[in-house]
Amino acid sequence: MRILITGGAGFIGSHLCDRFLQEGHHVVAMDNLITGSQDNIAHLAGNPEFEFIYHDVSNFIHVPGQVNAVLHFASPASPIDYLKYPIQTLKVGALGTHNALGLARAKGACFLLASTSEVYGDPLVHPQPEVYAGNVDPVGPRGVYDEAKRYAEALVMAYHRQHAMDTRIVRIFNTYGPRMRLDDGRVVPNFIGQAIRGEALTIYGDGSQTRCFQFIDDLVEGVCRLLRSDYVDPVNIGTTREVSVLEFARIVNKVAGNDAGTVYAVGSRIDGDPQTRKPDTTLAADVLSWHPQTELEDGLDRTIRYFRAVLRLPA
Ligand code: UDP
Repeated sequence: MRILITGGAGFIGSHLCDRFLQEGHHVVAMDNLITGSQDNIAHLAGNPEFEFIYHDVSNFIHVPGQVNAVLHFASPASPIDYLKYPIQTLKVGALGTHNALGLARAKGACFLLASTSEVYGDPLVHPQPEVYAGNVDPVGPRGVYDEAKRYAEALVMAYHRQHAMDTRIVRIFNTYGPRMRLDDGRVVPNFIGQAIRGEALTIYGDGSQTRCFQFIDDLVEGVCRLLRSDYVDPVNIGTTREVSVLEFARIVNKVAGNDAGTVYAVGSRIDGDPQTRKPDTTLAADVLSWHPQTELEDGLDRTIRYFRAVLRLPA
């Protein structure tokens, strides 16, 4: 297959490039590099099966030749990124998804949308199954991302229903691993960066808010299985080991061997920061036979090694 991955130089996009190349496909990565980085795909330069196109998918997308699948992963995805780029975030979810769907339709390609657990907002149902419609504040600070992805999902279903297009929607829960940006502001790079520098980990709020952290390899496997399936409705992909931010900080400190503890960063918590988040992954297990394989401590250990290498710190 010849596969177009928008956001192909991003954290998740670049891992998808690796995976599909390993499987023998031809990959075209497209990115405008506002939050992605060419460092993430530098190792693929010179691979005849890999192409990079520098382009903002919120503008008309032109890709010559055949395309068999379009994986739409372009979007700022960390809260500080989408607060910094609120209009670009809305545009890539709306115009970018429209352009990517239009390209897929013109090429007769399958289309897969990277959606998010943020479509559930600050959930009133716990854990969150795909049928839960969510609790999103459209005008809150996170609304630009949440509503962009909700609109993108609606657009994908409209193309599926009106044009009988072959489509998939993956709702991605918190994912971490090598190639996250150390300064993307999310809890995993923040905590790891602090831990490997021997600093106290900054807890926003009282640290009782929960998340479930999945390792990138498990997500990539889920995306591949979904693409190969014929399942059109949204599917959650995420782990179900729920930890509070405070508990997570203790785990990161333990794995990194940091004894500087934690510190409460008063006033840093963004309004609308969900208090709980945990996927119901029954559907992924039933229709994709997908089960996450990586223990949190192991995934963190691999990610810590990566960040130490990036910062040229001893392993
Ligand atoms: N958080 C924290 N310290 C940090 C960064 C984030 O306590 O240095 C908290 C944040 O308030 C949120 C959770 O960690 O409750 C996860 O935040 P992240 O930005 O990783 O992503 P989210 O899951 O909120 O989209």
